[in-house]
Amino acid sequence: MLNRQGRPTAPGSDSTVIHKTFTGNRALQQIEPLIFEIGSMDQTGVDIDAPAPHHKKLGAFERKAPIGLPGLSEPETMRHYVRLSQKNYGIDSGLFPLGSCTMKHNPRLNEKMARLPGFSDVHPLQPQSTVQGALELIDTLAHWLVTLTGMDAVAMSPKAGAHGELCGLMAIKAAIIARGEEATRKVVLVPDSAHGTNPATAALIHFDVRSVPVREDGTVDPQVVAELAGPDTAAIMLTNPNTCGLFEKDVVAIADAVHKAGGYFYADGANFNAIVGKARPGDLGVDAMHINLHKTFSTPHGGGGPGSGPVVLSERLAPFAPVPFIRKTDAGLQLVEDEAEAKKHGAHPFGRMTAFHGQMGMYVRALSYMLSHGADGMKQASEDAVLNANYVRACLADLMSLPFGNKPCMHEVLFDDTWLKDTGVSTLDFAKAMIDEGYHPMTMYFPLVVHGAMLIEPTESESRASLDLFIATLRDLAIAAKRGDTDRFTGAPYHAPMRRLDETRAARSPVLKWLPPQPILEAAE
Ligand SMILES: *Cc1c(COP(=O)(O)O)cnc(C)c1O
Repeated sequence: MLNRQGRPTAPGSDSTVIHKTFTGNRALQQIEPLIFEIGSMDQTGVDIDAPAPHHKKLGAFERKAPIGLPGLSEPETMRHYVRLSQKNYGIDSGLFPLGSCTMKHNPRLNEKMARLPGFSDVHPLQPQSTVQGALELIDTLAHWLVTLTGMDAVAMSPKAGAHGELCGLMAIKAAIIARGEEATRKVVLVPDSAHGTNPATAALIHFDVRSVPVREDGTVDPQVVAELAGPDTAAIMLTNPNTCGLFEKDVVAIADAVHKAGGYFYADGANFNAIVGKARPGDLGVDAMHINLHKTFSTPHGGGGPGSGPVVLSERLAPFAPVPFIRKTDAGLQLVEDEAEAKKHGAHPFGRMTAFHGQMGMYVRALSYMLSHGADGMKQASEDAVLNANYVRACLADLMSLPFGNKPCMHEVLFDDTWLKDTGVSTLDFAKAMIDEGYHPMTMYFPLVVHGAMLIEPTESESRASLDLFIATLRDLAIAAKRGDTDRFTGAPYHAPMRRLDETRAARSPVLKWLPPQPILEAAE
């Protein structure tokens, strides 16, 4: 089947390079159908005796058609899931330069700690007296988050960066309501370079988004912020370092301009990995910032595990933090769970973000990462992340174009597609060719302020040798693109289990339910 770009979906279908095999497998890369397509109950791996005569009690509710579950033997089941797992490219299989995502190594020590029965087996409804150790862990992690950011308090419960943004903006909204200004302060300033979650979050809780144009050098101009901010301004949402991989050098002036207008400074902390131990957001005028534990503090992302997005807060916003929060008492640690109880202690929580207390497993992993690195190690991780990104920049700058000039970047390096002009190769094609080389592509077409953006974040996890191979691969591809070897790109990926998918259609009209092929349906009738 061809997709809308008229490019092949099936492996090797248009390529003379790849010899077609009888099985459809390509060496160790094996075709794997859905489990429903490979097994059926009449070939199941277990023998179940026919039921003894019994009186049927379900009446009209009794199932008429076969249940349609897959039936497989144990080795078949094993192979199915192992083959599926092999289709997953992760940080454990190779370099994952996805910009803005901080795909760093997830140390196994963290996994071991998270599996200690005292952490993995606790239940969120257990009496607090029986989980004092777990509460102490949350409290200790909270302490280090507040210390590293130079802030006053932290709301631990949000479950991702975007969820943290929502928490931060809800705290800001609560503060504005407490000031009696909710009718007027309705605007959130968001730079053009922001991650899509920033304007989405602001809009979700009925703020009006006003976009701040980014200046020539890729950063935000405090003068422009001062002109846009006024009595209607609730907040600015600013990422620092920003999504162009640049430190917002005028961040303090920007904070001052927003504060002067009576607004709050929300910092998107997704890029905290560039500055841990080097700069404290609290010193830069930040009022609220989420921290992606699954980025900066090495806990797994996405399919690899749930995220976690604690939000650090300034003194002005701290009282509005959501429940639950932990309080030290003479009798031990107390988890303050409801608003009435919180008010007794002088807090004015805006509500609650999650059913329980947040992602316990991620807290254990993040604290384990912090304690095993120490303050000096975390600072070094940031320095190495920045060094690695600059090494990639310096080694590719002669072939690929840098939209803001060949200047030092922070922990990620942003290229645009000027250098691909007239080659017939697009950013998308280039990224697809990287898949053939065994690399997960970099972030493409983000940030939007740059044409055909390619955002590369190697993180500190990569060795010099690993970076050298990556750079040599990109150089080989770049030279091929410039030489006119267009086929290598426009047909790529040639070696992946799937070729080019219609991603728009997959997102707009996803097929969420497997329907048996017609003959099976007919047999069931
Ligand atoms: C990852 C990211 C987010 C959102 O974080 P999630 O944990 O994915 O919800 C927000 N802003 C930036 C700049 C990011 O990179």
